[in-house]
Amino acid sequence: MALVTYVQHREMAEELAERFGFAVPPVDIRKIAEGLGIEVVEMTLPNWFFGVLVNLKEDFYIAVNKGMPDHSKNFTIAHELAHHQLHGDELAYMKNSKRDYFHREADVFAAALCMPTKMVKQEARKWCNDYHFLAEIFSVGETAMVRRLQEIGLLRDKLYPCKN
Ligand SMILES: [Zn+2]
Repeated sequence: MALVTYVQHREMAEELAERFGFAVPPVDIRKIAEGLGIEVVEMTLPNWFFGVLVNLKEDFYIAVNKGMPDHSKNFTIAHELAHHQLHGDELAYMKNSKRDYFHREADVFAAALCMPTKMVKQEARKWCNDYHFLAEIFSVGETAMVRRLQEIGLLRDKLYPCKN
């Protein structure tokens, strides 16, 4: 059983964004990776392969698919960064039977890192919950933005048309 909850994963992610001094969007995920000593490498990969955290003799790299749009690259880097912060050794969680659970945790962490609660509230108020525009300024996909606004309780739980 996991003793650490999604609430705590979100808090960890938001603390990380704050520690790097981000108070307005976008949160520069690459800068955070760099600050943690993780090199981000863009690679030509099959289109179903978003990215991976690699541990080479305790040197960490994040490989990200070069062919994806910027918002997908950002989220992928944030997701892999989450594995680094939450799960440490990539091989350990890739082999674990609770693998899906680890990836879900990483998604929760990544969403909070790219879209910290305080920042989202502040911008959502400024831009009247215009999730198309908010997605743009946070450099995330619209679907991810809507999900985050719903999580925070700023948008109703219904379907909103999203272009990415
Ligand atoms: Zn993952």
